[in-house]
Amino acid sequence: MPDRYAVFGHPIHHSKSPFIHRAFAAQTGQDLEYTAIDASPEHFAATVRTFFTEGGKGANVTVPHKEAALALAADATPRAQEAGAANTLFLTADGAICADNTDGVGLIRDLTNRWGLALEGKRILLLGAGGAAKGILAPLIAARPCAIMLANRTAARAEALVAAFAPRAAQLGVSLTTLPWAQLAHPAATPPFDLVLNATSASLTGSAPPLSPTLWAPDATAYDLMYGATPTPFLVAAQHQGAARTIDGLGMLVEQAAESFWLWRGVRPETEPVYQALRAQLGALAAR
Ligand code: NAP
Repeated sequence: MPDRYAVFGHPIHHSKSPFIHRAFAAQTGQDLEYTAIDASPEHFAATVRTFFTEGGKGANVTVPHKEAALALAADATPRAQEAGAANTLFLTADGAICADNTDGVGLIRDLTNRWGLALEGKRILLLGAGGAAKGILAPLIAARPCAIMLANRTAARAEALVAAFAPRAAQLGVSLTTLPWAQLAHPAATPPFDLVLNATSASLTGSAPPLSPTLWAPDATAYDLMYGATPTPFLVAAQHQGAARTIDGLGMLVEQAAESFWLWRGVRPETEPVYQALRAQLGALAAR
């Protein structure tokens, strides 16, 4: 019997995780099956527990269950605790469910390994203060940019995140502050940014955060954690305003999956062929 893994979400039918993990398994010769399981919020914890009781070896968790996944686990890695959310569950040696969060490392690997971006000493603008922003903030700080500014539609959430991560940032000499949402369109005395990360879900509604052409440094990169068959509204706006490079979150998706796979199987898959296969699938969709 192959080992069983699954991704839990609601809805889940669009998830690319089964494709990614089956491709990793084929590439590395691992005998496993990976399915997508739809679990509504009221049934999520019970469904996950049953999955593990019945022999499941590990799970991914996506919207809207990432916080509930952390809550149901008996233990959690420091990066899941810091993020306040989990996207990966695995079993410890004594059979307890442990929560981890691989989103942050996935983003950093995509930015640095796939796209060759150096983050040290750079100025970063992070848009959003939801689960994804929380999950990537600690690894971004650890990359030692000179400054991270956080802007969110609901200012209080950005302020809370900055307060929570201020000690870590101070330790590493990273300036961590908020930028009022209204100032995105009219940044007063803010120097331009080398990297602008969109961790809002605004693209889901076809909108982009309000951006000003003066936000972008000459070699600036715009990165949307979201991805799709066509460029997201944020990436379209960024390109229009003069961002030198625009990147979507497809690579982050593949990299966070690779980190989960490594946690479960102790094997690191090659991510590039799987990334290219997904990119080709999206390209075919866009051409329809
Ligand atoms: P979330 O917890 O629901 O947070 C949503 C964030 O978006 C909040 O900051 C919210 O601001 C903001 N927002 C929502 N609609 C907006 C709008 N119309 N205008 C401006 N801001 C808006 O969601 P999440 O889990 O952080 O996910 C955020 C995005 O990251 C999603 O698109 C998700 O697909 C993507 N993601 C990608 C990966 C990957 O592997 N590529 C991994 C994780 C997440 P308020 O606080 O004001 O509501």
